[in-house]
Amino acid sequence: MGVGALSVWEKSSTARVTAPARPRKLAKVPFVELADGRLQGVVSSGSDIGRVYVSSVAARTYAFACSTNNNRPCGGARGMFCKHIQALVAEAVLQYGAERVARYLAVEPPDGEPTAQSITGAMSAERPEKGDASAAAQVFSRFLRQLAYLEREPVTTPLPEMQWFPPTRAVA
Ligand SMILES: [Zn+2]
Repeated sequence: MGVGALSVWEKSSTARVTAPARPRKLAKVPFVELADGRLQGVVSSGSDIGRVYVSSVAARTYAFACSTNNNRPCGGARGMFCKHIQALVAEAVLQYGAERVARYLAVEPPDGEPTAQSITGAMSAERPEKGDASAAAQVFSRFLRQLAYLEREPVTTPLPEMQWFPPTRAVA
């Protein structure tokens, strides 16, 4: 299957499915979305495979939050973006494209084409405040709901929420 080929479910789908701008590494950032006025998602811990972080950055204010799935604050997100938030921005750029991420967050990187680095840099330069982490539970439960699709029987009708899976093979 060549690049750009449509799998059977994409061809037969009546729902509009946006292909990821570039394939993502799901192991590191299994869930990323632009929703509720935030870039938010779930980022795996680099050191503990049993732990994930729920990270978010608000549009416009860039107020950020990062905590574990057990609601412990992230030690790296005290005065600045932690590595989880940086990973989240990088993955969002792969998923949605840098233009769209910059537009959603209302970031204007200084010059040229936006990149994950320039978006993160422009937001950091504004010295954003720590935001409230109350949305973390909601983000995490949305992530778990998406995981629940793994348990479903195979069907031929479109499941647009499945689009975050990488298009590695065609569905027979
Ligand atoms: Zn963090």
